[in-house]
Amino acid sequence: MRRISIFGATGSVGENTYDLICREGGADAFHTVALTGGHNVARLADMARTLRAEVAVTAHEENLPALREALAGSGVHAAAGSQAITEAADRPADWVMSAIVGAAGLVPGMRALAHGTSLALANKESLVTAGELLLATAHSHGATILPVDSEHSAIFQALVGEDLSAVERIILTASGGALRDWPMERLAKATLAETLAHPNWSMGQRITIDSASMFNKALEVIETREFFGVSPDQIEVIIHPESIIHSMVGFHDGAVMAHLGMPDMRHPIGYALNWPARQRLPVAKLDLAALGALTFRAPDETRYPALRLAREVMAQRGLAGAAFNAAKEIALDHFIAGGLGFMQMAGLVEATLDRLSSETRLGNAVGGLDDVLAMDHLARVRAGEIALEMRAG
Ligand code: NDP
Ligand code: MG
Repeated sequence: MRRISIFGATGSVGENTYDLICREGGADAFHTVALTGGHNVARLADMARTLRAEVAVTAHEENLPALREALAGSGVHAAAGSQAITEAADRPADWVMSAIVGAAGLVPGMRALAHGTSLALANKESLVTAGELLLATAHSHGATILPVDSEHSAIFQALVGEDLSAVERIILTASGGALRDWPMERLAKATLAETLAHPNWSMGQRITIDSASMFNKALEVIETREFFGVSPDQIEVIIHPESIIHSMVGFHDGAVMAHLGMPDMRHPIGYALNWPARQRLPVAKLDLAALGALTFRAPDETRYPALRLAREVMAQRGLAGAAFNAAKEIALDHFIAGGLGFMQMAGLVEATLDRLSSETRLGNAVGGLDDVLAMDHLARVRAGEIALEMRAG
C-alpha cells in the first residue's frame, strides 16, 4: 500500500488532496502516515480518523490537549509543535504533499526529500527561499519533486518528452486577482474583503491576497526559475482573466504548448498524486464553445511592483529569495491586520530588501539550510521594524 502524508492537510490544497485520496479509496487504498494542521484541530482529527493516520500533528503546542481529546480512542497518535511536524516528515512515506503555507513548509519538505520521498510541492515558498538546496537534496537522495502550483504543473506537463535545451521561453498566466479591473488610484484603498473576492480560484486567504497584488506571480516567476532552471529573461507573465490556460512553453521552432483546463486545484494535485499515470479526476470538462473567447493583456509593472522586485531578486539569487519571501509574509500580516494599505505591501518589501542590502550581501551563496533560516529571521525582524516606521510616518 502506498504510504502518504499531507502537510497542511486542513488548508485549501490539503482539503483538495484529502478529497482525492478519499475518492481513490481512502484508508483501503493508502496507508496514511502523517496529517498536519494548525488551528483547525477538529478538522484535522476528523481527517486523521477517517484515513486511520499513524500521527496527526498541530503546529501549535497549545492545541495539543484539544487534539488529544478529539483523537481519544482512535489509535491515532497526537503531537504538536514545529519540531513534531519535522519528526512527522522523518517517518517513512512514499508520497508527501507539502501544503503548509509560508516558509514554515520548507523544513518538513526538505526532510521528506532527504528520505527519498516523492514530494508534491504546493509550498512555492520552499523554492523561492531555498530552491538550489531543495533541488540538490532531491538529487542526492533520488527523490522526485512534483510541482502542484497549477502553472508549474502545466509547464511540467508541457515538457513531458521534451528537451529543456529546446525551450525558448516560459509564459506564466496570471488571473490578475480580485482587483484586476480596478483603476490604479483606487488600489491604495483596497480592503481585505475586496482583495479576497478572487474571480476564478478558491484558495487560502494568503495566496488570494497575493494574487491581487501579484506577489503570488512574483513568487511563481522565481519558482519557475528555480525549478526548471531557465534564465530570468526566458520567463514572461501574461494576464489571462479566464484562468483556462494554466501556462505555456515556447520552443525554439516557434511551437507554443499550452495547458488548458477548468481552474480546479484537484487537477494539478491529482496529476502529482498519480504521476506518471493519469487517472480520472472529478474536474469539470472544458467547454470552449461555452467560454467563447480567451483574452490576454500585458501586466503593468507600476501597478504590480512585485513583478519588478522578483526580477531584482532573481538577479541577486543567493539569499535574496529568502529575504523577499519573509518580507512579503510580514507585509501580508500587516495588511491583514489593517496596519498597512494594499500598495504599501510592495513598499515594505522593497524597503526591507534595500535595508538588508546595506548590512549584508543578499547575493551570497547559500551554504546550507541554517543560512536560509537565519536570513528568513533577519528579514522578518527588519520588515517588522520598517512596518512600524511606515505606520508612524
Ligand atoms: P491555507 O491557508 O488554506 O492552508 C495552510 C495550511 O497550513 C493549513 O493546514 C494550516 O493549518 C497550515 N499552517 C498554517 N500556518 C502553519 C505553520 N506555521 N506551521 C504549520 N502549518 C501551518 O493555504 P493554501 O492551501 O491556500 O496554500 C498552501 C500552499 O500551497 C501555499 O504555499 C500556497 O502558496 C500554495 N498554493 C496554493 C494554492 C491554492 O489553490 N490554495 C494554489 C497553488 C499553490 P490551519 O488551517 O489548521 O491553521
Ligand atoms: Mg499558481
